[in-house]
Amino acid sequence: MCCQEVRSEEVCAQMCSEMRSKVRSKMCPQVRAQELTGVSRNWRSPPAKGAAQVASLRLLGIYDGLARRGEHLLGQLLGGELPRQWRHYPEDDAIDQGSGFQWFYHSHSPEDRPGAAEHGHIHLFARRKLWSRRLRSAHEIEFASLADDPNRQVSTRHLITIGLDAKGIPISLFTVNSWVTGDLMLSASNTALLLEQMTLATGNEDVDAVIECVVRLFQNEIWDLLVRRDALLYEKQSPGLLRDESLEVLSELAINVDEKLACGGAWQQQDFPLS
Ligand SMILES: [Zn+2]
Repeated sequence: MCCQEVRSEEVCAQMCSEMRSKVRSKMCPQVRAQELTGVSRNWRSPPAKGAAQVASLRLLGIYDGLARRGEHLLGQLLGGELPRQWRHYPEDDAIDQGSGFQWFYHSHSPEDRPGAAEHGHIHLFARRKLWSRRLRSAHEIEFASLADDPNRQVSTRHLITIGLDAKGIPISLFTVNSWVTGDLMLSASNTALLLEQMTLATGNEDVDAVIECVVRLFQNEIWDLLVRRDALLYEKQSPGLLRDESLEVLSELAINVDEKLACGGAWQQQDFPLS
């Protein structure tokens, strides 16, 4: 199921002809992460339209390249084998030692998430060197009070989850409770700041690029998910909250990549809840 060929038409279905010709002529896979991250901006303000367009073109280029080669986004990761539920892909996670970001892909059992449309999802993390100093801030100390043992030694903090369909196309974004990933979280604002600076070079080029592009393109939506996550946690504040297995997904959003790309990655001008 996971090895079906990706058709670029399905990604581009809604894309206007002008954008399509732009993609063909500019060839996106060569657009590097530095071009995205070189556009400096504040997470809490609407991102530059140019950065969003770069991410749009790059994302289209990835799937266009996969389609031309007859490959699936996760093909190399799965090593030509059928995916197994719960197994991490790659086995020891994809780690960028330089940037400090880390991810893995896996599928839960259907019974675990009844009604879910996804094939599996990517859990994205930040390693200790990215956040250890941030823990001293008053804001982060307050957020840490949600945990029974805020000083527990963990090597990662979970940032966001990206759900993929069987064709390897992102279809959802969600946040999860800490027992799910076995580590801890950071507050919404610090999570957002880390995501803003995220680059990935784990050796899984296409997946790295898709994660980067999705985080850029759906930045507003991710911010909303993080704020909703924190609001829920503060509302429910109680002993054992982060180990409460009745609380798994804390905030969730279905996303439509076609629609986002059809807008050329245009950002909605909106105010953000944090000043
Ligand atoms: Zn998972």
